[in-house]
Amino acid sequence: MHRSEPPLLALHEVTRRYKSPRESLLARAPHIDALSGVSLALYAGRSLGVVGESGSGKSTLARIAMALEPPSTGRVEFLGRDVNALPERELREARRDFQMVFQDPYGSLDPRMTVARIVAEPLQQDSAGQRERAVSEALEAVGLRASDAAKYPHEFSGGQRQRIAIARALITRPRLIVADEPVSALDVSVQAQVLNLLIELQQRYGVTYLLISHDLAVVDHVCDEVVVMQHGRIVERGETAAIFRAPQHACTRALIAAHEGEPVAASATVASRSDERDERDEPDDPEELR
Ligand code: ADP
Ligand code: MG
Repeated sequence: MHRSEPPLLALHEVTRRYKSPRESLLARAPHIDALSGVSLALYAGRSLGVVGESGSGKSTLARIAMALEPPSTGRVEFLGRDVNALPERELREARRDFQMVFQDPYGSLDPRMTVARIVAEPLQQDSAGQRERAVSEALEAVGLRASDAAKYPHEFSGGQRQRIAIARALITRPRLIVADEPVSALDVSVQAQVLNLLIELQQRYGVTYLLISHDLAVVDHVCDEVVVMQHGRIVERGETAAIFRAPQHACTRALIAAHEGEPVAASATVASRSDERDERDEPDDPEELR
């Protein structure tokens, strides 16, 4: 751990309040505290998982961590700098180090754009030649072919689309990738492939993840530490293995119990290296298993 360097990402007492629709004209406008007093620090090489039931504030945390929206109160820092106080140009520059992968590999890729344009999107300042080279490298890094650059998203399976989204995130060689439920929309067998890719990229490019999932097992494969969220608050945190072994909070125990018996990515990760793979859901495209 490089404690001499500031954390890649730090949240200090972050709160995010949303107005919710008024139930009647006489009622006061109600609100939802999607995040309440959330503090965390994420260091290079120490990937952090965020788990919690649906509605616990995970996606809000992801958007705030990426400075896609500001917190209502509190501070968000990239490498020690308050991102919501950065001038636009510096924020754009800082974003090269911080990229995001979303849950839905269908909705997150513009169907009218070629893969080349989608993947090169974070490189707008670079020359055409630089972009083309970077796209080929990024596609190959995620297990696709350089020639896939000329195709459109609809020509790919769900897992391959998520690889395209990961290539787009990887293209600036970011230090941090925030991935919000990156495998939840995929078939179980494909989940394992994509998780293995995330692990490989972590080792190969030294990328650190903030990995969000409702599934503790997914986080266990990729992350050193985990925070458990409930109703917008962090209710438990620690080393992933320790949390798994001895969960303290009822919410954490419920997440572990909910998961038992399910054919989830954790078992699929192992299964993907064994003969069991054939018994699982076929990916849309056999190339998935290349
Ligand atoms: P999760 O990703 O853990 O399922 P979210 O961060 O999406 O949780 O949502 C947390 C809470 O905040 C939910 O109650 C949700 O309805 C609410 N929420 C999220 N975004 C908005 C928004 N833009 N406007 C109003 N409420 C929101
Ligand atoms: Mg969410």
